[in-house]
Amino acid sequence: MIKFLDLEKINSLHKEGLIEASQRVINSGWYLMGNELKTFETKLASYTGAKHAIGVANGLDALRLILRAYLELGVLNEGDEIIVPANTYIASILAITDNKLVPILVEPNIHTYNLDIDLIEAHITLKTKAILLVHLYGQVCWSDTLLQLRDKYDLKIIEDNAQSIGATWRGISTGNLGDAAGFSFYPGKNLGALGDGGAVTTNDEALSSLVRSLGNYGSKVKYQNEYKGLNSRLDEIQAAFLSVKIDSINQENDRRKTIAKAYCEGIKNDLIQLPIYPADAGEHVWHLFVIRTDNRNKLQNYLSENGVQTLIHYPIPPHKQIAYKEYNNLSFPLTEKIHNEVLSLPISPVLTDEEVNEVILLLNLYK
Ligand SMILES: *Cc1c(COP(=O)(O)O)cnc(C)c1O
Repeated sequence: MIKFLDLEKINSLHKEGLIEASQRVINSGWYLMGNELKTFETKLASYTGAKHAIGVANGLDALRLILRAYLELGVLNEGDEIIVPANTYIASILAITDNKLVPILVEPNIHTYNLDIDLIEAHITLKTKAILLVHLYGQVCWSDTLLQLRDKYDLKIIEDNAQSIGATWRGISTGNLGDAAGFSFYPGKNLGALGDGGAVTTNDEALSSLVRSLGNYGSKVKYQNEYKGLNSRLDEIQAAFLSVKIDSINQENDRRKTIAKAYCEGIKNDLIQLPIYPADAGEHVWHLFVIRTDNRNKLQNYLSENGVQTLIHYPIPPHKQIAYKEYNNLSFPLTEKIHNEVLSLPISPVLTDEEVNEVILLLNLYK
């Protein structure tokens, strides 16, 4: 069977380094907020080009903490509106509502699946204070128009970079394009921990120091609490694992790019819509390779019967979730169409050429 994602095989690539790192952490007797975290934060900051990187417990917390810090700084106030793509993973929206901010859902572009930047201005009100952008599936969402809107309306731009570490726009890395960015190191992400992990990057000194404090009980000095914080820290062992794996992220992203190119050139079937990634839109790091087709379940069953595992990212849009009953009556036709039609093909640094060719062959024979 061709697995959608073979995590065991991916981590086997790093086995020696991971075992060495875990032994080092076990023997150190120090499991939180130590040298491993510092080392990884330095590596991540240098990788993205951002001045500050702060390890946190997961990607959702990274976004929650950025927004929470902006509230503490008075940049945001409860009830302010945050523009966010309607077709994102629900975490982006949870981070907003968890902070008593209001998500303003905006439709994506049907070709790139990223927020349609041309639709933003029509949604701006006096309460709009920020845009929470998502570089979905690994593709950069950025443009000159976005920068003009930011300046015109004095907006903060927060990047949800959970799916796109290593992507670039005109040579600048995601995570260093906006005012702050949240990363996820969930095991299946391009840079995955062996458990949960996340990070915030920013060039803003005040924001960085506040996120660090808020993630550690709102405390800078032990037992002195300036804020009502949370406990959201990146464990030493996960930081040590991530320091090993970040050294190969470019190489692994390159393998994803090669596979994506093979799929794009090899798959020729009118029933299948391939992803579109305009050259001027920036580098794509292919966290997911997402195709669309009218009868998605039929295609998924066909691939499954022929030994290819696929997944759906995502089957239900946030505004149709029970958790967001208050938005269930809203209508986002493109978002709903995307959720009905998308299917993610296997893509990962350990997928072999034979497996890629098998997937292409099967898709070309599909009727
Ligand atoms: C994975 C993901 C998150 C959340 O990350 P966790 O580490 O699972 O909390 C947020 N946004 C997007 C777009 C994601 O894909």
